[in-house]
Amino acid sequence: MEVKRYAARKVLLKKGVLLRNAVVQVAEDGTILSIANITDEEAAKEGLPIHDGYLCAGFINAHTHSELAFLDGLFLPGGSMAAFLRQIDALRLQFDEEQIRTAQARGYETFAKEGIVAYADISNDASTAYFKKNERFRSITFVEMFGVNSKLGEEAYEVGKKVLKEFKEQGVTAYMTPHATYSVSATLWELMRSQLERAPIFSLHYAETAQEINFLKNNAGAIYDLFHRDWKRKVEAYNMKEMEKCLEYYGAEHKHILLVHGVALTSFMVAFIRSAAPEATIVPCPESNLFIEGRLADYDMLRASNIRIAVGTDSLSSSPSLSILKQLQVINTYYPHIPVEELLVWATQNGAEACMFDGLGVLEANIRPGLNLIKMPNVESNSLQGATVQPLADLKGFSNL
Ligand SMILES: [Zn+2]
Repeated sequence: MEVKRYAARKVLLKKGVLLRNAVVQVAEDGTILSIANITDEEAAKEGLPIHDGYLCAGFINAHTHSELAFLDGLFLPGGSMAAFLRQIDALRLQFDEEQIRTAQARGYETFAKEGIVAYADISNDASTAYFKKNERFRSITFVEMFGVNSKLGEEAYEVGKKVLKEFKEQGVTAYMTPHATYSVSATLWELMRSQLERAPIFSLHYAETAQEINFLKNNAGAIYDLFHRDWKRKVEAYNMKEMEKCLEYYGAEHKHILLVHGVALTSFMVAFIRSAAPEATIVPCPESNLFIEGRLADYDMLRASNIRIAVGTDSLSSSPSLSILKQLQVINTYYPHIPVEELLVWATQNGAEACMFDGLGVLEANIRPGLNLIKMPNVESNSLQGATVQPLADLKGFSNL
């Protein structure tokens, strides 16, 4: 079996364990064989370059909508959630199946090029099942449900059951999931209850915008007006108190809850989540957060709270890229004091723990977690400006990219 050796100035094994000047030996089926320190002299003798940068496990994209790759570049940055929802509604463009598949395939190619080895995927239909049943990635699919009142909720649940069945028939790991706080009625939460109780994990767009908080706390604001006044829908979503009760309920069952975005979270809200739902993870999608809300989550506050943070790309409807490195670069620009090593943990080990991808996210012998080289102009600078990702191995073997 062919074996390759890669060396870098920093090799991130897992949270808190970083080797300096180390070499990773990987087999052609992607298995990590060994990780050991190497001196400059030894490397020179072997003719092995020691790259300026990090070696780390393959990236985990903890939130994306791969089915929406065809919406690339169609949306305007509206500066608010309501503006974004309005555009989705106005965008009744007809795409044929061929166009959608071509765009989806391009999206998955991008994942591979960007060193992503596993992803948590929101799906409203089963159009991605054809790909997922033979993919080189590991994935978990969340069949997304929304319906802001009883009637819409009941209709959505029937459709959701069919979509879920379609995925399962094709051998795809899939669970039902609520869309967001403001779009799921009490009735729909109840309908989904048996599904959510059976599943170990679900995802929820949570505290994405200030408008959402206004909706939850005051039954007011641009999202509320859009649903109630403009779309003439009866609004029967949970309020803030009810929403917290709901998180408490599933938190007590130790569900891995992916709370996606978290831009509008306060330290009080995070403290509540920490105690009510110990296995919850905050999953910001930085580029998307800038596109929709014009700001990022409060990473200093999140770090201080010790809650698990993972990273997602969101979809091409609200994010200019499907690159995890790009998300880290955005955070690094706004929060240059957060160690790059910690950002890499969010994008690897934390993502794997959040999404329950066992055996991924860390570098150790005898597993196949993928291997990425993050080349940096200066690895000691803590700056990701000018950094690139080169996937060296994925879950099945050497990367041929
Ligand atoms: Zn999303």
